Amino acid sequence: MSYKVVFLGEGRVGKTSLIYRFTKNIFNEKQPQTVGANSFLHKIKLCGSVSTLDIWDTAGQERHVALGPIYYRDAQGAILVYDICDIDSFIKVKKWVRELHEMVGKSIVIVICGNKIDRERERVVDLGEAEAYAASVGATHFTTSAKSGRNVQEVFATLTREMRIRSSPMSHKSGEEQGLRVGDRKVEEDSSCSC
Ligand code: GDP
Ligand code: MG
Repeated sequence: MSYKVVFLGEGRVGKTSLIYRFTKNIFNEKQPQTVGANSFLHKIKLCGSVSTLDIWDTAGQERHVALGPIYYRDAQGAILVYDICDIDSFIKVKKWVRELHEMVGKSIVIVICGNKIDRERERVVDLGEAEAYAASVGATHFTTSAKSGRNVQEVFATLTREMRIRSSPMSHKSGEEQGLRVGDRKVEEDSSCSC
């Protein structure tokens, strides 16, 4: 089964870095600004079954406006990222949630990431408030670090599990069963399967 996942969030919060950590297990301290939209195919294995994620990355708010409906079209999951050291980036998350609900509908699975927790001492966004907000819109909240890798696998595993559940209880076929091949990309093993 294949799922489209869109990343949303202000510029510089760490969207591209989270994707690189997940798909390539790398981190670039001087990650160049993303230009235009990029799409990454990556397989994830959960509960013995493979899903292919089609992960869309945007250059941030200003460019996202120009990306418009094509960016959102047919998305089943969204990862909304803010920087725990930047209050404005958290406030903007609320805007992205409203926009997602308008553009895609309320069935989309949303995970909210408070990123850069390796800089916990510089935190300005209240964790309890962020978790309460996420719960109020039916989203799951994680604190992440693309730099250390903390919780990055968990974000994608949780999102994938929820997308599987919401798409159809009959759609748990593995990627191989459906003849999917995505180059020689690594298949991620999930060690904490709770399906
Ligand atoms: P994007 O514009 O949202 O795609 O953000 P980028 O992934 O380009 O990251 C913006 C900057 O933040 C870059 O300098 C990254 O190296 C840095 N960055 C991203 N994630 C983290 C993180 O978890 N911790 C720290 N300390 N820096 C990060
Ligand atoms: Mg980027």
